[in-house]
Amino acid sequence: MPAPVSVSSHPLLRHKLAMLRNVATPPVAFRGLVYEIAQVLFYEATHDVPLQPTTVTTPLQACQGERLAIKVGFVPVLRAGLGMANAMLDALPEATVWHLGLYRDHTTLKPVTYYNKLPAKPDMDLAFVLDPMLATGGSAIEALRLLKNAGTPRLKFIGLIAAPEGVAALQEAHPDVPVHLAAIDERLNEMGYIVPGLGDAGDRQFGTA
Ligand code: URA
Repeated sequence: MPAPVSVSSHPLLRHKLAMLRNVATPPVAFRGLVYEIAQVLFYEATHDVPLQPTTVTTPLQACQGERLAIKVGFVPVLRAGLGMANAMLDALPEATVWHLGLYRDHTTLKPVTYYNKLPAKPDMDLAFVLDPMLATGGSAIEALRLLKNAGTPRLKFIGLIAAPEGVAALQEAHPDVPVHLAAIDERLNEMGYIVPGLGDAGDRQFGTA
């Protein structure tokens, strides 16, 4: 059985997702919404991260606490994944970020790697691939393949909106990778855009439409 695909039902996230989709939302507000939604998804996607005991001294006395027992990394797929990485890095500042540049060839709709800052010897125990739009699934599949080849032991994917076609392709290629999303939409159109979606997530974040 493939790893689960989780779609968040958090009411605040659902509220913000509608604002994110709105064509009238300008880039500054769009970036803020990507940040807030990505942070909720990150908290949900880290629900099973192992902890280890630690001792902490409060102003009153020493007590037992917990801290993360593993190293976490983020792999934002450039450029649309950058806003998600910012949000997650603010939630977990000690995480490492590996930038990965993949664009989709508009004719073949296949991923092309143009920037790869993955280290030769990764020391992440758990890496999150971040791409707001899981459309055909090509970029996510390629990013996960590169991370597996680099020896990353545990992987998860976090996106904002997915097409059913992208979810199916990702599960077929990487059935071991859990997927966390804010929504699964109706379909892909003939241009490879998710419908109803939100348009081009990179253009909408960075005002380049
Ligand atoms: N990438 C986007 O930014 N939007 C889509 O709808 C599909 C891929």
